[in-house]
Amino acid sequence: MQDRARPGAEFDVIVVGAGPGGATTAYYLAKGAADGTPRVALLEKEHFPRDKFCGDAWCAPALDILEDMGVLQELEAEGLVRDTRAGGFISPAGECCVSSGQATGAPGTRVYAIKRMICDERIARAAQKAGAELIEGANVTAAELGEDGFWRVRTGDGALFRSRALVAADGAPSKLARRLGVVNEAPTGFAARQYIKGGTHNFRADGVLFYPTYILPGYVALFRHYNDDIDLGSYVIPGGAAIGKDLPRIYEERIRRDPLIRAVLGPRVEYLEPLRMAPLRLGGVERSYARQLLVVGDAAGQTDPLTGEGIHTAMMAGRIAAETLREMLRSGDLSERACARYHERCRRAFGREFPASAMAARLTYRVPAMLDAASVVAQRRGDAFMEEFGAAMTGVAPKTTFLKPSVALPLTAALVGQLLRGAGRTEERYRRCLDADPSRETSFRNACLKDPAFAGAALR
Ligand SMILES: Cc1cc2nc3c(=O)[nH]c(=O)nc-3n(C[C@H](O)[C@H](O)[C@H](O)COP(=O)(O)OP(=O)(O)OC[C@H]3O[C@@H](n4cnc5c(N)ncnc54)[C@H](O)[C@@H]3O)c2cc1C
Repeated sequence: MQDRARPGAEFDVIVVGAGPGGATTAYYLAKGAADGTPRVALLEKEHFPRDKFCGDAWCAPALDILEDMGVLQELEAEGLVRDTRAGGFISPAGECCVSSGQATGAPGTRVYAIKRMICDERIARAAQKAGAELIEGANVTAAELGEDGFWRVRTGDGALFRSRALVAADGAPSKLARRLGVVNEAPTGFAARQYIKGGTHNFRADGVLFYPTYILPGYVALFRHYNDDIDLGSYVIPGGAAIGKDLPRIYEERIRRDPLIRAVLGPRVEYLEPLRMAPLRLGGVERSYARQLLVVGDAAGQTDPLTGEGIHTAMMAGRIAAETLREMLRSGDLSERACARYHERCRRAFGREFPASAMAARLTYRVPAMLDAASVVAQRRGDAFMEEFGAAMTGVAPKTTFLKPSVALPLTAALVGQLLRGAGRTEERYRRCLDADPSRETSFRNACLKDPAFAGAALR
């Protein structure tokens, strides 16, 4: 087998995988490179535009990075994003808290629906424009660190690349880092997506999460896109009512028969694709580095164990990886110890929230009334509480937010009320959400349904 990289195939850093994690790493490495250094390659096995099964919900920290790259402004100008201001969640006992979308919302809590098919390519092209060499159709099949201190990276078509540092950002299966013995665990979560054609559904809001008991602590989510298409997503979080391999059955037996989901989909719904599923690697890994190697994004399990959201954390990790690699290349120290700084910085930036998120997931499964209580308080206190709650749920604010007296006291009082009220009747109350509060602007039928008349039909 050839052992010499062709001229032009030698780099300071090779990034494997051009998802949000890898492309962000390449962008920040290449941006502002002086005298062409560092030389960065971004190897992607697919050709853009390529799809990635996802709920398409981009949380605030991801939007901030997209803005810094100039990508968000471009997408906004072209009308390809949807601000999911009109949204909220339905608790296990059908307590509905969906905001009307009138409030402006704090920038730290914004969530946009953007199709991955569109946005992932824009980030990769931004990295290319910044100076990274984007090589599409480059399926990395092997990588080894030679005694000369250079990585030899091989692709399926027999090409060989060399670099001083390697970034594995190849997604949740994490094949590269597993092959190199850095990541040893298999992914534990699972999620699915199905696109629904715009104009064929009955969904009025922008983004709503449903927490029926059959999938807790996971959930079903609907996000509406710029063109009225809907991303119907569902998340199986480990340790709860469902396991990943059951997802197709849960779809057929529960989600498609769920009266609330039926109501938002309506009688004329058209699916644009079959059910698409992919694993979720949640809550971080023990070690996301080795000598001359960093693991970024889903490959390192940098996905929140409560929500299954990982775009923003992958991008945050990408930026941290780029900063750390730049320092390392400047100092010439690419040792394991120097790479460990990346792991620690990610831990401080977002990873230390993961244990609290995992605990919150276990709690919502054991005491679903907590979500009912949160919804009741949010209904009473309106958008301000919802923002604070949403920020903590999406990892923008620390989970200790739940312990602040302004949040904890009303939540505790509402929890006691819920426990007294609804013990054992959760599923029945969930169904009744369809008919609750017909006069309230933010009730389920008014906030979520284009045609509220279909609510009754969905129950039959
Ligand atoms: C169904 C579903 C719904 C989700 N919904 C949301 C959501 O709404 N919001 C959110 O924030 N997160 C969501 N997530 C999680 C989110 O998709 C990931 O956290 C995010 O994609 C991580 O980005 P990444 O760059 O690390 O990995 P990926 O996006 O998976 O990118 C990895 C890239 O590596 C490439 N690659 C793989 N192997 C090789 C190879 N051998 N050689 C070269 N290239 C390779 C792949 O083609 C891909 O482009 C969801 C996940 C699933 C499965």
